[in-house]
Amino acid sequence: MDQALIDGTLAAADTWSNAGANFSLDSYWVTNNDVTAYNFGVGYEHIIAQCWISYSNFIISEADFIFNTYHDFSWGSAYDTFDTETVALHEFGHWLMLNDLYDPADSDKVMYGYIALDQIKRDLHQDDIDGIIYIYGT
Ligand SMILES: [Zn+2]
Repeated sequence: MDQALIDGTLAAADTWSNAGANFSLDSYWVTNNDVTAYNFGVGYEHIIAQCWISYSNFIISEADFIFNTYHDFSWGSAYDTFDTETVALHEFGHWLMLNDLYDPADSDKVMYGYIALDQIKRDLHQDDIDGIIYIYGT
């Protein structure tokens, strides 16, 4: 996997792990292929990344997310790309059982369901933090 994807993903995991809730994400999933990247193909160009979660008795048994390499990603200041950390921060929110938000009033939150090229959103909104603490406690 591209180094920009790995670096951005690790930074996003740290952000969630430091949110004050009772869990932490570690780097295990990178080596375990839980974060991957490939081209989704024709008809799926609108998807930037996708999250797959399996549950067993309401407990997550498997979680993966995939960057769609149809798009260009970077971790830094490249122009006309999607920021890997911004995308990974959102996808980890799904791993942690948060859902997409689509109300324009939620556009500052990590769990807002839309992203623009070159958009940087690397910090959790207080509502993202409140949501995760509601689920996992402190
Ligand atoms: Zn989403």
